[in-house]
Amino acid sequence: MTNWDVLIVGAGQAGCAAAWDLAAAGLRVAVISRPLSRGKPCAGGVTEKAVARYRFSIAPVVREAVTSLAVSHPSSPVRHLSTATPFCVMTERAELDAFCCGQAEQQGAVFHETGGLRGIEQRADYVRIETREGAVFSAPWLIAADGANSAVARLLGERHPAGAMAIEGCVPRENVRDYPPMTLDFGVIRGGYGWLFPKGDHVNVGLYVWRHGVAAPERSTLQRYCRARLGAEAEQVAGYPLGTWLPHTRLANGRVLFVGDAAGCTEVLLGEGIYGAVLSGQLAAQAILGERPDVLYPRALAGWREELQQVSRLGALFYGVLPVSSRLLQGRLGSTLVNGFSQGLTLGQCKRQWRGAQSLKL
Ligand SMILES: Cc1cc2nc3c(=O)[nH]c(=O)nc-3n(C[C@H](O)[C@H](O)[C@H](O)COP(=O)(O)OP(=O)(O)OC[C@H]3O[C@@H](n4cnc5c(N)ncnc54)[C@H](O)[C@@H]3O)c2cc1C
Repeated sequence: MTNWDVLIVGAGQAGCAAAWDLAAAGLRVAVISRPLSRGKPCAGGVTEKAVARYRFSIAPVVREAVTSLAVSHPSSPVRHLSTATPFCVMTERAELDAFCCGQAEQQGAVFHETGGLRGIEQRADYVRIETREGAVFSAPWLIAADGANSAVARLLGERHPAGAMAIEGCVPRENVRDYPPMTLDFGVIRGGYGWLFPKGDHVNVGLYVWRHGVAAPERSTLQRYCRARLGAEAEQVAGYPLGTWLPHTRLANGRVLFVGDAAGCTEVLLGEGIYGAVLSGQLAAQAILGERPDVLYPRALAGWREELQQVSRLGALFYGVLPVSSRLLQGRLGSTLVNGFSQGLTLGQCKRQWRGAQSLKL
């Protein structure tokens, strides 16, 4: 006996995308999540390809549309890459999540707050979870959208180790020496980059490391970077792992489908995860509306997983020879990327476009 058609654990970008589609299709959807007020460390940069995937306009929560990217490396001067139309929009992640929850709620999804999960039980025809507060939910299918540290994966005995790490904070605009354009500073941390994302009333500042263990993006390193670039210290500093592609990540376990960071859907080169979260949430929803979701969903996500695997190889190469690769990024490769992004292309599609242009020149 189940009281819902689908349970979704996690009300981030993946969970909300799945909830919207399933509720819009008329299913009884319960989203069980930690309170939104806890916030998810995220710089809130949403590329055009991600913007295009939403079922609704996210314009009400867009703070800036970006047409210029500054790229630097200590070995070469800063280069500004510009596009005719935006390649990315800046949002404040808490505002984006609240907005997407509201949209899913309007479709009929019901949200329940919890401090965490106590248990999960899978039977032949349903899955049942119990929250720390003792609330019990059951449904034929469960979507695990609970991020890189997925509690659902842990309770099922799955190992979903996170690949990348990032730490971020914000500097109120009045404290900022010079309000910057969107900036990626390579070489300020080993195996990664520092970023400055302008958000109107503040600048989001952070450090990304492509592989856990390469270097620790620590609070003191972030503050040093922040003082050097913005002339002030960051507030509300928080770090979090990113669920990047790993070879053995399972996408389905019985009646549970993993999406977003819980399924390793973030690309490793720059750590962009919102697109993969929305995409996988929508594909899981689509699979649940068909026959055998546990078979359909991994099949539907195979193309994106293939691209993530290729980008993972590229990431190892890129960060292995950073002075060379960042110079490439400051040149034609970077222009191809931002222009491709402004057309809504993925990294893999941009790479193919760049390769095509290179071979045409030969
Ligand atoms: C510092 C940082 C900056 C980033 N910046 C960007 C960026 O600018 N652009 C971009 O595209 N990507 C960025 N990313 C990556 C991006 O944030 C993630 O890939 C994306 O949020 C994944 O979405 P998700 O819905 O899968 O998981 P999450 O966003 O992590 O959402 C998980 C949800 O599950 C809930 N939850 C967790 N555990 C439980 C539990 N036990 N019980 C109930 N609920 C639970 C959480 O409260 C949350 O609502 C960044 C990541 C980090 C760490």
